[in-house]
Amino acid sequence: MAIVLKPATLLDTPIEYLKGVGPLRSEALGKELNIHTFKDLLYFYPFRYVDRTRIYKIKEVNAEMPFIQLCGKITHVEISGPKRKQRMEVDLVDSTGRIQLMWFQGINWVSKKLRPDTEYIVFGKPSSFRGILTISHPSMEEMTMENLEMVKGLQPVYSSTETLKSKSLDSNGIMKLQRTLLSKIENELTETFPTYMLEKLRLMPRKEAMRNIHLPSGIEKLNQAQFRLKFEELFYMQLRLLRNKTDREVTVKGFIFSKVDTYVNDFYRSYLPFPLTEAQKRVIREIRTDMGSGKQMNRLLQGDVGSGKTLVALLCMLIALDNGFQCCMMAPTEILATQHFATLKEFLKDMPVRVALITGSTKESARKILHEELENGQLQIIVGTHALIEDRVKFKHLGLVVIDEQHRFGVNQRARLWQKNDTPPHILVMTATPIPRTLAMTLYGDLDVSTIDEMPPGRIPIKTLHKFDTKRSEVFSFIKKELQKGRQAYVIYPFIEESENSDIENLVHGYEEIQKAFPGNAVGMMHGRMKFAERERTMKLFAENKIQILVATTVIEVGVNVPNASIILIESAQRFGLSQLHQLRGRVGRSTYQSFCILMTPYERGVDARARINIMVATNDGFQISEEDLRLRGPGDMMGTQQSGILDLKIANLAKDSAVLRQARIIASEVLGEDKKLGLEKNRLLLEQLRQMDKEKGDWSRIS
Ligand code: ADP
Ligand code: MG
Repeated sequence: MAIVLKPATLLDTPIEYLKGVGPLRSEALGKELNIHTFKDLLYFYPFRYVDRTRIYKIKEVNAEMPFIQLCGKITHVEISGPKRKQRMEVDLVDSTGRIQLMWFQGINWVSKKLRPDTEYIVFGKPSSFRGILTISHPSMEEMTMENLEMVKGLQPVYSSTETLKSKSLDSNGIMKLQRTLLSKIENELTETFPTYMLEKLRLMPRKEAMRNIHLPSGIEKLNQAQFRLKFEELFYMQLRLLRNKTDREVTVKGFIFSKVDTYVNDFYRSYLPFPLTEAQKRVIREIRTDMGSGKQMNRLLQGDVGSGKTLVALLCMLIALDNGFQCCMMAPTEILATQHFATLKEFLKDMPVRVALITGSTKESARKILHEELENGQLQIIVGTHALIEDRVKFKHLGLVVIDEQHRFGVNQRARLWQKNDTPPHILVMTATPIPRTLAMTLYGDLDVSTIDEMPPGRIPIKTLHKFDTKRSEVFSFIKKELQKGRQAYVIYPFIEESENSDIENLVHGYEEIQKAFPGNAVGMMHGRMKFAERERTMKLFAENKIQILVATTVIEVGVNVPNASIILIESAQRFGLSQLHQLRGRVGRSTYQSFCILMTPYERGVDARARINIMVATNDGFQISEEDLRLRGPGDMMGTQQSGILDLKIANLAKDSAVLRQARIIASEVLGEDKKLGLEKNRLLLEQLRQMDKEKGDWSRIS
């Protein structure tokens, strides 16, 4: 007996059963567009719309026009050229003139469909081909009342693929399916917002919005539909994040750090090497308030490279110590952990604080002792890498966890730290990669955010220059002058895993070239495939100025601090992303010397690469750069977004819809402010939606 699984709702029906689909097309839809059910198709929104309200006369057409619509008859068809480079030219005429239509592909198929003396609606982009006005690969519909009805007005454009097109599922084909679908399911499209919200926010009802997003009845309606659906998506995302945050604040107790005592006071009075900036003071106050509130702190500290986050973290750790707690500070790489350890030790060298380092290279015998000291509470601050989250590491009183460069830690790893206590420690996440506000609101929407928006005084802004490869000798003599003044330089090569071998070759070649060009200087080389001990040795030589030029890959990208280095030369800069370039640039400008960042590229470089380099030359502001980065790449390629659920967004775009997002967040927090548990009858729909989302999406956002 065959078991027939009945779908829970009509929307879960396999797409195969939609009229006009069937097994072959449904297989292609699944493979090519990930459309398996009615619902998947419904949420497959057009990526743009074209205005087909007007039919132009041929004599009005010129090559500068965008997509336009004509109406006419075919008078002449000619196929020419050798078999594999064939082209088809077709003449179209109306009462005002003649225009050429042109095909380079699919000629067999198109030519069979075209018939003389038949009127067609032709839609495409005019251009000029060898001085003649033509439209290449236009879409053609026979001029019938039904077709005219279908194409007129604003027409949606859906993305499609060659495979789907061969099954007649081009954009028009998909539009036809959407029509069929909408008429079938319209009554299933229940409202997801309570009436009071619809009214207050003047939102278009869901049913109407779904119809208008696929089959807009005018520009005004389309705008309303888009707003409604974007708002819905962002509102529920924010509601969920904020609900989780409130839940956690209610259910999870935090340690109360009530005092500021000798550790903080002694350090502040006697050992603080420079006055704190106003921004540093402000974020320390924010953090202190959190840690004294009885709630568990979950705070993101963001600040551009060099803004002085480490010192803020240190002061917070001293507060924990004053209250009898231990701290741990976690970094994503051994180099960084080692460096943090050195920095903290230097800051604390005259204070009675026990600080230690644990990394993958810590010897087993040494580890055993450290583990014991953590368990009996003697060891107060431990710095380390992932080695810290192994189960056998136990603390007596872990009170504060500082995580540096958090996007490199997976959600699970953070969760394991969290579980080390009955009462969870306070968590301070630091990131030197400024993130655009919209991303911060979503990626870290359930964290509180502190921002250091001020640099320590006395810094001279880094000068950034773009040079072509052909100017290498000029660049080298410039570097020579700086070295003669006693400065040091980085030379960075790209290192992208897929092309590892050629990248290593380039690096080694560059290293040899630099050695030849700078015979009077010591040159070092560093890349990710070298052993850690070897890298560390090289880094140390560079820090001590025993090496003047360090030729390296992006292993030095984050955190490395050698203030005497004042030049960074980035080879093949067109291959780096914006935030990576900005991070690399942050390796210089760490002292009172004028620093330089030189971006080298070949003359040929893509449009995006040009844009990235122009932005780098134009600004040093990490926040501005991150906004541009989001705009250029979209959220999918930004750090940390993969695991966040942001990529599930179907219609909202974080780079473009920041205004909608801000509004959604405000409204969501108003709703929760009035009704924390969403227990009021008027909010019943909201609660149901959240439960549904929890079921579908799992619980990632509860962990941080
Ligand atoms: P980041 O925020 O990139 O981690 P760091 O904490 O490494 O920055 O600080 C960069 C440099 O600035 C360090 O050498 C640090 O000692 C110094 N610094 C931090 N705070 C101040 C301050 N208030 N005044 C002057 N220098 C500071
Ligand atoms: Mg840092």
